[in-house]
Amino acid sequence: MQALVKYGKGKRLMELREVERPAPQEGEVLIEVKAVSICGSDLHIFHDAHPYWPPVVLGHEFAGVIAELGPGVAGWQAGDRVVSETRTGACGQCFVCQTGYPQVCEHKRAYGIGVNGAFARYVAGPARLLHRLPQAIPFETAAVMEPTAICVTSILERAGLQAGDSVVVTGPGPIGLLSLAVARAAGARLAGVTGTGGDEQVRFAMARALGADFTINVEQEDPVQKVLALTGGLGADLVIEASGGAPAIAQAFALARRMGRVCAIGISGREQVPIPYDRGIFKALRYDFCFSSSWLAWERGLALVARGLLPVHKIITHTLPLEKWQQGFELLEQQQAVKVILIP
Ligand SMILES: [Zn+2]
Ligand SMILES: [Zn+2]
Repeated sequence: MQALVKYGKGKRLMELREVERPAPQEGEVLIEVKAVSICGSDLHIFHDAHPYWPPVVLGHEFAGVIAELGPGVAGWQAGDRVVSETRTGACGQCFVCQTGYPQVCEHKRAYGIGVNGAFARYVAGPARLLHRLPQAIPFETAAVMEPTAICVTSILERAGLQAGDSVVVTGPGPIGLLSLAVARAAGARLAGVTGTGGDEQVRFAMARALGADFTINVEQEDPVQKVLALTGGLGADLVIEASGGAPAIAQAFALARRMGRVCAIGISGREQVPIPYDRGIFKALRYDFCFSSSWLAWERGLALVARGLLPVHKIITHTLPLEKWQQGFELLEQQQAVKVILIP
């Protein structure tokens, strides 16, 4: 079968190759991939700016149907529609796994990073990571369930967003837009995004389509003044940092109200980022660093999407055949696309 392989350490070194169809091992299933989404981390791997273990088939945001069961798999059948968590390699034994957070296990080697992923017709992996995909959710939409689950974990489980909260999302990339959608679904009374000039055309329009009350181009207006004006001089209950940009990370301390919360999802790609530490102390901010997604977040995300309460399909701008992966990567790098789905 054809698969998109990162075959060496270094920039680029990636191509569509003929590889052997994987065979499901004990406890695993073979999944026929129906749709797979290109993630920002795939771009970072392409440019050698993210951890990965080559040679590896990329692709970790996918949906498909079970093609074959490996030995010892119960409760699943060929033909079942599924999505999968990405925490392959999590040990199940360490303190972090045992206390209920296998997605943060240090032994985790995620699909498309440490083990072969889904930029291919077939992917094999553990049945215990599967979630049933409701009929109401098309495969293309299901391919964005992984980043959706990250937002559900980060915003609802970790930062504890409550109905009636005011929310500012910094950075309207895919994670920022999904965060906005989750905040809306959870009953935020006020929710909007900040971004730059390059976000005006596609991403701000999409934010409004997802129900944003405001969009702020930080190159043209002061986001702090605007958010204070929108919140009666108080500041936001919750700031969701989805850009990873140093200025936005520091600005979150000014956007959040006293006793407010900051939910950090965006990766900065830097060794250190300066923050106004004392300001955080004097405002008694709560700052939650977030990583990956819980089992429950997948179930909740799927239920919300199936019920039509979380319109995550709106962030999908392009669907291309796997052979056109390069075009998909370029569309994302030129910010012409938000989410690109590949069909193997
Ligand atoms: Zn991803
Ligand atoms: Zn572990």
